[in-house]
Amino acid sequence: MLRTKDILDESDSRVRAENTDVTFPLNETNKNIIPEMLKHLRYSQIEKLSKKYNLRPGMGLAAPQLGINERFFVVCYERDKGKFEDYVLINPKVISYSEEMIYAGEGEGCLSVNREVEGIVPRHARISVEAYDMDGNLQKYRVREDLAIAFQHELDHLNGILFIDYIDPKNPYKDADNMREI
Ligand code: ZN
Repeated sequence: MLRTKDILDESDSRVRAENTDVTFPLNETNKNIIPEMLKHLRYSQIEKLSKKYNLRPGMGLAAPQLGINERFFVVCYERDKGKFEDYVLINPKVISYSEEMIYAGEGEGCLSVNREVEGIVPRHARISVEAYDMDGNLQKYRVREDLAIAFQHELDHLNGILFIDYIDPKNPYKDADNMREI
């Protein structure tokens, strides 16, 4: 199983490196690691299992965080208590996004950022994304609110961007009035 030590820290240059498009059919590495990534995220959100395996709770993980500099990410989203949805987005492209901006009131976290960083990360309230699934079929996703934040956080990873890049340490809550807190 994918463990906490397998996830690279922000200090590792591969987290910031360029990422190339995935080719189909998927190679064995990617085929095997995608379900492992989803399992890690799901376990991390179930208290008993996160304690057992010593996992930090997380809902998204992108390939470069594992040292794979390719364009894919996964999200495991608990829509209702105990009801998880798995998303696999390969070579994703943003089709459209709302003008309305939001931010997570609790702040964002990242499995590659092992420190507390306070501040506002502006995100679009809704986005539409096209991406391939594991079988190479093109899928369209329309997501909103916290799931939209997760998608944008992961899309950023594919461009070597971390949520902390948006936060001005001297003024971490600037522009908060122009956005809706969720
Ligand atoms: Zn992250």
